[in-house]
Amino acid sequence: MNWITRWKKIGIKVRQIFKKQPVGEQETDWKNCPLCKKISYLPDLIKNSYICDCSFHFDLPPKMRLESIFDSSFEIIEPPENIDPDPLNFEVENRYKYIEKIKKYRKVTGQKTALICASGNVSNLNAVVVCFNPKFGAGRFGPAENEHFLKAANFAIEKKVDIWIVIYQSSGIDVHTGVTGLSGMAKSIVAINEIKKAGIPTFAIAARAVAGGTYASSFFMHDFIMIESKCVENLLFSGKRVTANILKGTDQIPEDFGTAPGVMKSGLADITLENRKELKDTIAKLASIILKKEESKISNEEEIENRETNIKISSAS
Ligand SMILES: [Zn+2]
Repeated sequence: MNWITRWKKIGIKVRQIFKKQPVGEQETDWKNCPLCKKISYLPDLIKNSYICDCSFHFDLPPKMRLESIFDSSFEIIEPPENIDPDPLNFEVENRYKYIEKIKKYRKVTGQKTALICASGNVSNLNAVVVCFNPKFGAGRFGPAENEHFLKAANFAIEKKVDIWIVIYQSSGIDVHTGVTGLSGMAKSIVAINEIKKAGIPTFAIAARAVAGGTYASSFFMHDFIMIESKCVENLLFSGKRVTANILKGTDQIPEDFGTAPGVMKSGLADITLENRKELKDTIAKLASIILKKEESKISNEEEIENRETNIKISSAS
């Protein structure tokens, strides 16, 4: 055995060790910050809502997200049964079958779709919260997610909840599902419109990338568009590389393209928070202003109606 064979064997061994690493939300007890390069101990990060000392925001696991936004207990809105997540039986020959990838996403996240939807109280307001899970295929939006989103929207309208919140962290429409996935753009737009028609204030929160068809559909339909922290990036329809190809160069692309400051500068979002810990209070404050305004609008209309009736009665007598 020469030294080349020995090194090859070591290389195979190392690859095998890496393959055996568990895949999931908490792979190790240490997290490396991509901004300041500090290595943080996971239990410390959890205590600080997954925020590094330099204020970089790591992904917040969806379950923890729901626990932090709801006042106490919440009820999960399950996805509808028997929705085929892979209606085209998509397959890349000799490489992979798409359904196998979906099975892997389900195993890693414990979810049936990339969404986790729940209802409960947020600062004493009755709310439905929809949260994308980036661990589920980068939060892509396919046929199963479409139906899950619609079910949560119907629930919100039927129960006449006070507020509707969507936490976006999505790479866009699921390209493996063709037009069945693309129909989600129209469906989610209709859903948000119906929620707004029912008088329910709606909040979109960009917690991570919001791209492609998700960016180009329901995201901008909300009453309030909020960015969770200054370090959120990739709020765009297509990335810098694709955009540069279309524009035949990067000269026309601003440095802050798709970043939280860039999006704010373009007037596409209403507010960027300093810290995700401010999220719940900010939503509650904004919602209470809108709901009070709505209440006073209704009582003003009732008062005018009563006054008109009194005038009619007095003029008749
Ligand atoms: Zn950091």
